Amino acid sequence: MPVRGTVTLFHVRGIRIGVDYSWFFVLFLIILWLSGIYGSVLDRPDGSAAPYLLAVISALAFFASILLHELGHAFVSMRRGIGISDITLWMFGGVARMTKDSDSPGTEFKIAIAGPVVTLLIALACTGIGIATAGSQEFWHAFRLQQGATTSGILAMLAWMAVINWWILAFNLIPAFPLDGGRVARAIAWKVSGDRNRATRAAARLGQGFSYVFIAIGIALLVTGDPISGIWLGLIGFILGQAARGAVVQTEFASRIEGIRVADVMDEEPVAIREDASVERALDEYFLRYRWPWFPVVDAYQRFLGLVERGAADAVPEPVRASSTVRDVFEADSTGTLWVRDDAPLESLLGNDALRRLGAVMAVDADGRLRGVITADQVGRALRNALTPGA
Ligand SMILES: [Zn+2]
Repeated sequence: MPVRGTVTLFHVRGIRIGVDYSWFFVLFLIILWLSGIYGSVLDRPDGSAAPYLLAVISALAFFASILLHELGHAFVSMRRGIGISDITLWMFGGVARMTKDSDSPGTEFKIAIAGPVVTLLIALACTGIGIATAGSQEFWHAFRLQQGATTSGILAMLAWMAVINWWILAFNLIPAFPLDGGRVARAIAWKVSGDRNRATRAAARLGQGFSYVFIAIGIALLVTGDPISGIWLGLIGFILGQAARGAVVQTEFASRIEGIRVADVMDEEPVAIREDASVERALDEYFLRYRWPWFPVVDAYQRFLGLVERGAADAVPEPVRASSTVRDVFEADSTGTLWVRDDAPLESLLGNDALRRLGAVMAVDADGRLRGVITADQVGRALRNALTPGA
């Protein structure tokens, strides 16, 4: 997949439109290839400028049609409440990056099909305008990139845009996940089975199958004298295979930790200090005994209030430690970032800020009562166990 953040071209409704450097190579190839074709279709002598000009315009129109396809995905996605961080064009087409996965098979289907619908409209428009202006027979000549008696530059360009968009449509509808057709297949499998992970796995396996087919055809083309197409198709097959395998690994991971709750992993008898305990008691019975740098603080009902740190307790002068309480020195969790619900999925802890900063996060029940403490080590161990086959 393309590297994020290459060259930013512009923004469309807050979506960053960027191109990968490999995209310029594709534009160059297209211009080179098309100027040759246009030269022969228009029957212009070598060195004439017109075919090059047409080729450059065509390459830009190709760029626009890929971008419109991706914007089709993006707009439907945003309307369904799923953000799009950026659209990047690279060697093998475009990628619209969603900020999260679809939440239902219906949403997945609509987002996946939106791109091909846009491409279909472009192909129909180019074909329709071409036939309307030149007649079906002449357009068919141009469509096959053959020299026609009255083929003009505009007609040749229109025909090429039609051809390329019909190809983009056909290619994207191949049910090889993560191509659009594969995402449609995933949405259908998801709807039928009711299980997102199983559907993704099935679609990804199908995608892997297609990747082998692409590679095989690529090799066949390579040895039968069409090395450029062969290498191209082989590379597409390889990249598809990688993406499909990545999706399989990801869903296996997700389905393994699916159903694991914070309560399944946490320490169930958390050592906590009551807010009305004296600082002297906190030091003697907790800090000096356990040697931890901090303790959770609770009220009389075991409700989580915040943390008391060793340094804060130490800072209280000795003569007043018996008369001062933890309430005076602890730090309240005013932002509510130090706790999670004990019935939250383990997955929700990934990227938790307190876990990273403090090495632990408190688990509370629906009434705010402290039920456990979950450490980064425990989360790590749970994830490792989930990842170990057969565990
Ligand atoms: Zn698409």
